[in-house]
Amino acid sequence: MSDSPAGFSLELSSDLREMRDWVHEFAASVIRPAAAEWDEREQTPWPILQEAAKIGLYSLDFFATQFFEESGLGIPVAFEELFWGDAGIGLSLVASGLAGIAVTANGTPEQIGEWLPLMFGTADDVKLGAFCSSEPDAGSDVASIRTRAIYDEKTDEWVINGVKTWATNGGIANVHVVVASVDPALGSRGQATFIVPPGTRGLSMGQKFRKHGIRASHTAEVILDDVRVPGRCLVGGKDKLDRRLARIRDGGQGGEQAAMKTFEASRPSVAAMAVGVARAATEFATEYARTRVQFGRPIGQNQGVAFQLADMAASVDAARLLTWRAAWMARAGQPFDRAEGSMSKLVAGETAVRVTEQAIQILGGNGYTREYPVERWHRDAKIFTIFEGTSEIQRMLIGRTITRLDIR
Ligand SMILES: Cc1cc2nc3c(=O)[nH]c(=O)nc-3n(C[C@H](O)[C@H](O)[C@H](O)COP(=O)(O)OP(=O)(O)OC[C@H]3O[C@@H](n4cnc5c(N)ncnc54)[C@H](O)[C@@H]3O)c2cc1C
Repeated sequence: MSDSPAGFSLELSSDLREMRDWVHEFAASVIRPAAAEWDEREQTPWPILQEAAKIGLYSLDFFATQFFEESGLGIPVAFEELFWGDAGIGLSLVASGLAGIAVTANGTPEQIGEWLPLMFGTADDVKLGAFCSSEPDAGSDVASIRTRAIYDEKTDEWVINGVKTWATNGGIANVHVVVASVDPALGSRGQATFIVPPGTRGLSMGQKFRKHGIRASHTAEVILDDVRVPGRCLVGGKDKLDRRLARIRDGGQGGEQAAMKTFEASRPSVAAMAVGVARAATEFATEYARTRVQFGRPIGQNQGVAFQLADMAASVDAARLLTWRAAWMARAGQPFDRAEGSMSKLVAGETAVRVTEQAIQILGGNGYTREYPVERWHRDAKIFTIFEGTSEIQRMLIGRTITRLDIR
């Protein structure tokens, strides 16, 4: 960040601006032209992942550089551009990184060094990672996770059984990161995160979902049937887990739920995705309104249309500012005392849905057809009020934090 007299600046560093322009170029020239095709194919866009890997955009190095970027804005800036290109392809490009965060959040340096590279592979052999927390009976209610991990002392292995659902890259990933209960009596505090290495027996893909939007991103069930993973695959290690469980059983604090810690860290990133889609729709609708003529003048000359565009532009910027604030706070190690991460995800997600709907309206009949991208952006946008905690759950977290009441 540049030094400003007041010690505060929203100006991006030259490195960040350069990275933003580089990602934007890829989004404009490679992702966006391919978006409609992969939306229809409803498949992981492997050729695009490979192209991104060749230039280093799909790589652990790129992800880690942005994740550790000093202002905290590396990931939000990159994600906004990718999702401006297309949300389905964008999610395919970033989901491995999100699975990586689940390991980074609690893992040892050895675990990060061993497993994260396998989530990305190489430019010649691209791989994926998947984060598996949700279950058929445990979506918003993370405490209800039934997948069970039992330690086998004789072999120093964990044996995992259960069914995960809605896993992005589930069943096609090289490395799966799975949240399981190690002590069901402790509810969410008795959960831990496990790495399931490539080719582990007992892990298989269940149903692949056909979706409303982000259709280029693969979403599926993951079945874990007597999956055995080595002891070193428990994220954070057994000593740390044993100490935490002992503290909880003694009536002390046990730290955060395993899945919740991942979500806290990733919320501003998900908010940035929503900002990218909302910005795409706002730009497209603005250009359309400047050129589409009815009653002898561009439709944008009607206040009814221009005011909508004004609201759209202002709300995209407001969502981005909340996103940048949360990302900056997370990087600076400041606690989200007012649930700032949830605020960013809530506002950006709702903005994306509203703004893409307004864009369809401004394009009229054209907006409703697949000849134009705004109907796809509207379908894509809806995911941002659902995954990584629904809008209602974000409101509950914000409500609890600001009132300090036990809101249910
Ligand atoms: C495309 C896609 C990709 C996904 N990717 C992943 C992934 O990679 N890994 C993963 O683990 N999960 C993933 N998910 C799962 C996602 O996080 C869940 O769908 C989400 O958390 C909601 O859970 P649910 O679907 O079970 O809905 P439910 O929890 O059943 O909620 C249904 C409705 O009830 C509301 N509700 C529930 N409880 C309350 C409450 N206390 N107060 C008010 N309202 C409430 C919700 O807000 C929602 O509107 C993905 C989902 C989708 C659709």
